[in-house]
Amino acid sequence: IKDFQVENEPVFGYMPGSPERAELEAALKKYQSQVEDVPIMIGDKEYRTNEVKHQVMPHDHSHKIAKFYWANSELIQKAIDTAMAARAGWERVPLAEKFDMWLKAADLMATKYRQDLNATTMLGQSKTVIQAEIDSAAELIDFLRFNALYGKEGTKWQPRSPDPNVTVNKLRLRGLEGFVAAVSPFNFTAIGGNLAYTPAMIGNAVLWKPSDTAVLSNFTIYKIMREVGVPGEVVSFLPADGPVFGDTITKPPHLAAINFTGSVPTFQRLWTQVGQNLPNYIGFPRLVGECGGKNYHLVHPSADVTSVVNGTVRSAFEYCGQKCSACSRAYIPESLWPEVKAGLLAAQKELKVGNVQEFDSFMGAVIDDKAFKRISGYVDHAKSSPNLSILAGGKCDDSVGYFVEPTIVQTTDPTDRIMSEEIFGPVLSIFVYPDAQVDEMLTVANKSTPFALTGAIFAQDEAWLVKATEALKDSAGNFYINDKSTGSVVAQQPFGGARMSGTNDKAGGLQYALKWTSPQAVKQTM
Ligand code: GLU
Repeated sequence: IKDFQVENEPVFGYMPGSPERAELEAALKKYQSQVEDVPIMIGDKEYRTNEVKHQVMPHDHSHKIAKFYWANSELIQKAIDTAMAARAGWERVPLAEKFDMWLKAADLMATKYRQDLNATTMLGQSKTVIQAEIDSAAELIDFLRFNALYGKEGTKWQPRSPDPNVTVNKLRLRGLEGFVAAVSPFNFTAIGGNLAYTPAMIGNAVLWKPSDTAVLSNFTIYKIMREVGVPGEVVSFLPADGPVFGDTITKPPHLAAINFTGSVPTFQRLWTQVGQNLPNYIGFPRLVGECGGKNYHLVHPSADVTSVVNGTVRSAFEYCGQKCSACSRAYIPESLWPEVKAGLLAAQKELKVGNVQEFDSFMGAVIDDKAFKRISGYVDHAKSSPNLSILAGGKCDDSVGYFVEPTIVQTTDPTDRIMSEEIFGPVLSIFVYPDAQVDEMLTVANKSTPFALTGAIFAQDEAWLVKATEALKDSAGNFYINDKSTGSVVAQQPFGGARMSGTNDKAGGLQYALKWTSPQAVKQTM
């Protein structure tokens, strides 16, 4: 596929005095000074239930920015009926028209609505300006543009017809026969856009359950997609209680697919419910899931210390470690440890934690009370366990916002649960190993957790890099050599992992759009 005609969306700098900075500041002011009412959307209709919820700013949790409503099972069922009635008509809309809508939406997101997306992501999900920009601007726009490109190119392929005078073979790409449910997370606004709108782009009708803690930014996407012509019947916007949503969408016979990003237990629960309902379905629902990780940085004695320190600090602490790809465990050789330790501690001291509206903040707050309790639980474990010592950070304070200091923990036990369980917060755990055991660390990095999302190795020794790359083949869906484990770019490093990290269907990759079709092979004798 020639994709030179599409570039990744550039990231703006937001320097003081720049036009984008002024526009973003105005948008922040606007969204901060109102509580936006976000309805449930099914077709062209708005719905409001008695289950009223609020989205707050995680870095100032007394401050509400949105009021929204949980859809009950009747409304979810209504959305299913609406999707089922709409799907055939939507499927008939030529793909070229759909791709054009997606490209138009991307252009609007890159220009007119860029700062609405950034501001709602910063305030609602406590992202710093740069983290918002790479997510709700660049990545979201890239998903739309590259999925449209890959959809367009991928749907051109036709099977061979060796003698068209005798036989003509065709592949007809149908939408899935049923409805698609998309369940998206808080940590990337772009992921919500991708999960809901890529299946829709290729011809499906979708029920979208956004995360409660990303409702405002996700609703902004919804409105833009409506503006470019996506009918209300094609994507319903349904904030809801997770189990109620899961119970309702897994029952009907026409569940065609679930497109999920979230926790392992939730994905397993959906999978189990689908399994239990198998006799009731008209087919086999497709389950696509991305479920997190416990990502490693494995450092060889030949590594360049500066890149280890910079990469590890950024991977572990940017967006408070709330990227599925964040480095959460590091293995450092004894010989490099004094230098690496000094570097990490010096860097950690410089990280400003605070209100993300102050443009020099490096980290905001973690997303909510539940996350704060989970993460501070790991910090308490580090404080009380004899195998663990806190080298930096460790302060957790939720009096104003859900703030957790960037925390560096050293362990003498590479099997401690802090080295194997997903924390999803700004806690980096380090095991310092004797240099002679570097090859044993390959097994430790590979086998200590059930996950396999991202991993990074750092070395200058070429032969070891080759060996380690082979030994760690199954340890990560996104593997980095001399670079940090975060920051995948659409169409450059398609993202996803296997094992308990998910079904590895690679968001931002070539195959993703076509995953949501049900192809029919047609043979005609002439
Ligand atoms: N694609 C992002 C990265 O590489 C992470 C996405 C996620 O957190 O799910 O950093």
